[in-house]
Amino acid sequence: MRYAVLSDIHGNLESLRAVLADAADRVDAFLCLGDTVGYGADPGPCVDTLAERTTISVAGNHEYAVAGKLGLEWFNRHAKAAAEWTITRLTDDCRRYLGRLPLVTEVGDATLVHASPARPEEWEYVLTAEDGFAALGGFSTRLCFVGHSHVPGVWSIGSSGPEYESRVLTVQLEAGRRYLVNVGSVGQPRDRDTRAAYAVWAVQERRIEVRRVPYDVEAARHKILDAGLPSFLADRLRAGR
Ligand code: ZN
Repeated sequence: MRYAVLSDIHGNLESLRAVLADAADRVDAFLCLGDTVGYGADPGPCVDTLAERTTISVAGNHEYAVAGKLGLEWFNRHAKAAAEWTITRLTDDCRRYLGRLPLVTEVGDATLVHASPARPEEWEYVLTAEDGFAALGGFSTRLCFVGHSHVPGVWSIGSSGPEYESRVLTVQLEAGRRYLVNVGSVGQPRDRDTRAAYAVWAVQERRIEVRRVPYDVEAARHKILDAGLPSFLADRLRAGR
């Protein structure tokens, strides 16, 4: 079994389509870690496109916001403006669907969660080595996939001690170690690499690969500007941060 693990698509249909094309011949099923909407100009089409394929999905803070489960006062002004705009673009059915997504779920020996697994409803970021090592105590499965920070990284713990690697592309899972993997962001990468990020989890091969996929950044950028969303949200796609 092979899964594509996607997170933080953020209404960017161009990057989502590029990732789905890249994953088509590599995986059997799709997993989604949330924040499919918010920031980008195609929230509804992104939800629909993923719903056709995703077998299992959890909610991110942007799903909570558009479903009315999280107050917009928690968001910075760009995120708030985008959330208000996104709400006007989603059908009631779509918002109800997003509102029913769980915060945490398990697939095999992996936990799926948007933010830090110990207190997922606090929406804490896993950014530093210390964040990740602390988060390794927040789940009981062997593996945990997270998103939220939009920056890929791998933290692990075993008899030889803790390890953290950013910018890692392929991890061969070792017996006796537990892993926390941030799969990065499909639709708004923030590690100064503009390409979409997602992970392929090959279960039998015990391997996880974070892949980077180029997409039409300018098309996504123009859609954001044409929608009247904050230009900051368009320009950051060009900067990858
Ligand atoms: Zn996000």
